[in-house]
Amino acid sequence: MDFSLIIPCYNEEGNVAAFFDEAEKVLDLAPISYEYVFVNDGSGDQTEAKLRELFDNHPDKNITIINFSRNFGKESAIFAGLQNSTGDAICLIDADLQQLPQTAYQMYRTLIANPELDCVCAYQKNRRESKFMSKTKSLYYKIMNSMVDTEFKNGASDFRVFTSKVKDAILSLGEYHRFSKGIFSWVGFNTEFVEYEASDRNSGETKWSFRSLTKYAISGIMAFSTAPLKMASYVGSIATAFSIIYFIITLIRKFTNNISVDGFTQLVILITFFGGITLTTLGIIGSYIAKIYEQSKHRPIYIAKDIIKRNKEQ
Ligand code: UDP
Ligand code: MG
Repeated sequence: MDFSLIIPCYNEEGNVAAFFDEAEKVLDLAPISYEYVFVNDGSGDQTEAKLRELFDNHPDKNITIINFSRNFGKESAIFAGLQNSTGDAICLIDADLQQLPQTAYQMYRTLIANPELDCVCAYQKNRRESKFMSKTKSLYYKIMNSMVDTEFKNGASDFRVFTSKVKDAILSLGEYHRFSKGIFSWVGFNTEFVEYEASDRNSGETKWSFRSLTKYAISGIMAFSTAPLKMASYVGSIATAFSIIYFIITLIRKFTNNISVDGFTQLVILITFFGGITLTTLGIIGSYIAKIYEQSKHRPIYIAKDIIKRNKEQ
């Protein structure tokens, strides 16, 4: 098998058929063998039925459908797709046609034409989002890059084509909290970045809210950096130094100027100040412990209800 397309689908009933048609326009003519690996991430709509229909209506196509028992998230869907793909080159692509199959095929051609490359990654130079969101994301990447050793490229998406060597490396990372952007940087390999312009969503709407994005961003930092843990003790020691200095100044003023200190105000300020620092520190430590706890349970990254497979090359 030359090429595998991995398509995570969560409530994409209006998109899977359109995606398939669009992909067929390019791939059917291409002189390569290819397969589709659709991962139905516990959709609550008709995605499962639509995928089944696609499978039944195209008996000559290599199609794998993995139906999750519930929604496990895109990262888990990617993992399942990788485990079930057989291509020498693999592409991660969204189902909503924001990332075009034509572009995927061009990226495949780039990968094949340059034997020194292991991965071709599409990145958005101009994001289709508000200025605020763009700025927040750039700031996030700045902070992230200052904390970790591997480089995270701003705007790099999950839209990638890579060799099976890269796939094996990614699958060898068994972590439960997966952050693909980080994992791709961490495994290394020779990556070429190509620019792309995201199109409009074909049907349905995005699954990302500001809240879920923030959660994802924080778990990304936690998966790749222990800097926040160190930061907690750093902030804590600054605060302690501050309180010691403040204590000494007050003592000196008391004895030299004979001032009377409004004790209540000072107490309130000090207690809230240190209370805040203690709680923040505990919170950061607690978050890491939570991650360790979840990892130590060794839960699978996903559970598939069933897997439907047709692969003529095997
Ligand atoms: N997706 C998924 N599981 C989820 C959320 C999203 O498999 O829990 C899939 C979704 O079906 C789509 C891709 O991930 O194919 C990207 O999602 P979306 O279009 O909502 O993200 P955006 O393009 O807005 O970043
Ligand atoms: Mg999308």
